[in-house]
Amino acid sequence: MKFINLTRHTEIGANSYYLEIERHRLVLDCGMHPKNTGDDALPLFKAIADRDVEAVLISHAHQDHIGTLPLAMRRFSGARVFMTEATAEIGSVLLHNSVNVMTRQREEIGELSYPLFTHRETDRSSERWRRCPLRQQMSIAGERAPRREKHALAFEFFDAGHVLGSTGIMLRTEGRTVFYTGDVNFDDQTIMEAAVFPEEKIDVLIMECTRGDHPKPEGWTRANEERRFSEALGAALERDACVLIPVFALGKTQEILAMLYKFRRQRLLPEFPIYIGGLSSKFTDIYDRRTHTTRRQMPRLKLMRDVAPYILNDETVRDTPVRGGRVYVLSSGMMIPKTLSNVFARRIIENPIHSIFFVGYANPESPAGLLRDAGIGGEVALDPNKARQQIRCNIEQFQFSAHATRESLIHQAAKISPNKILLVHGDPPAVEWMRDTLSNKLPGSEIIVPTPGAELEL
Ligand SMILES: [Zn+2]
Ligand SMILES: [Zn+2]
Repeated sequence: MKFINLTRHTEIGANSYYLEIERHRLVLDCGMHPKNTGDDALPLFKAIADRDVEAVLISHAHQDHIGTLPLAMRRFSGARVFMTEATAEIGSVLLHNSVNVMTRQREEIGELSYPLFTHRETDRSSERWRRCPLRQQMSIAGERAPRREKHALAFEFFDAGHVLGSTGIMLRTEGRTVFYTGDVNFDDQTIMEAAVFPEEKIDVLIMECTRGDHPKPEGWTRANEERRFSEALGAALERDACVLIPVFALGKTQEILAMLYKFRRQRLLPEFPIYIGGLSSKFTDIYDRRTHTTRRQMPRLKLMRDVAPYILNDETVRDTPVRGGRVYVLSSGMMIPKTLSNVFARRIIENPIHSIFFVGYANPESPAGLLRDAGIGGEVALDPNKARQQIRCNIEQFQFSAHATRESLIHQAAKISPNKILLVHGDPPAVEWMRDTLSNKLPGSEIIVPTPGAELEL
């Protein structure tokens, strides 16, 4: 069995992994770096050289897992592509949006290779995706309930509890099992239910480490955090503030909308206008359409109907009047320059009446990370092409991660005690903490941090 980490650095970036198992050659995920541009935003497909890839399996439709799929399909033209139905529906919207973003960036940053693919190529590639249900064994040739032939390879998607459509992927050959967690959450969120992962023997576990450098805060429970969040929102609305909540368009937007719905229903908060972005509204529509075909909480809740958010676009976010008593749930979560949350933050950051509430992961070097770390009274350039600003608005941080706590990752790994554990999808301190802890806890397992681009013989 061979493995190559195709992510350029030990980080959460253009996540992608090559796996060779019983002569079958696969790629798990084809992400695009959420922050970098040009070649730095792509997986190291070159490390595979000209090996024929038989199949590409996509765990979920976040940009850092599906963003370069059309490129991969151009490169591995014979490969079959598998994902869940929800991931396919979301992925197609996301990739078309990405074409628009890259077309704009071509002008703005002079990246002449952009757009890396077109709307037409996106349509053509998505027609070739094969949509698979959860918990259905499939052969790598795409047949259901595959025959158990020698050297045959089967895969199965398991619910990863991270965002709509997200999966962990089991690969089984005659004698061996490999499980890739994708992005996973072992706790319930407001909409998503906790992951349901296999409990059978696993030889090789490929595990995400997003939260590896953050201990679970003492006494943290989701219910307590929700209460703290609703109180902070109540206080901000009371003083007639605008509240900006930077979020990922997929997942965190819908979770926050569902939470706001709950707060209003429980009369914890008064009625107030809520704003989201255009891309977020498309993903929210998909959540609403799939209420009865997905495993989730609050299945009767239709967010677009029941929360009825207003929709902002690139222009209106610049010139809509900043009025108090409103909540802006805007992407991107890391406040990348030019995105709605970045543009809107620059409008309110110098006014002490307003609030910015962080609710999830932000890379420390991203504008959201810089803003959070500089804190009130500090200075920040949210857009490197614009003047620095003094941070006078109120800033608070809440913990509603869509990723497993490091404690639950360790617990899960200990439960299945695989022969080998490959640690991926984490910044270096996160991955290192996981390596040390797992090495101590599971002396019988080999714990590996795969060097980007290097071929590992497993
Ligand atoms: Zn994700
Ligand atoms: Zn990810």
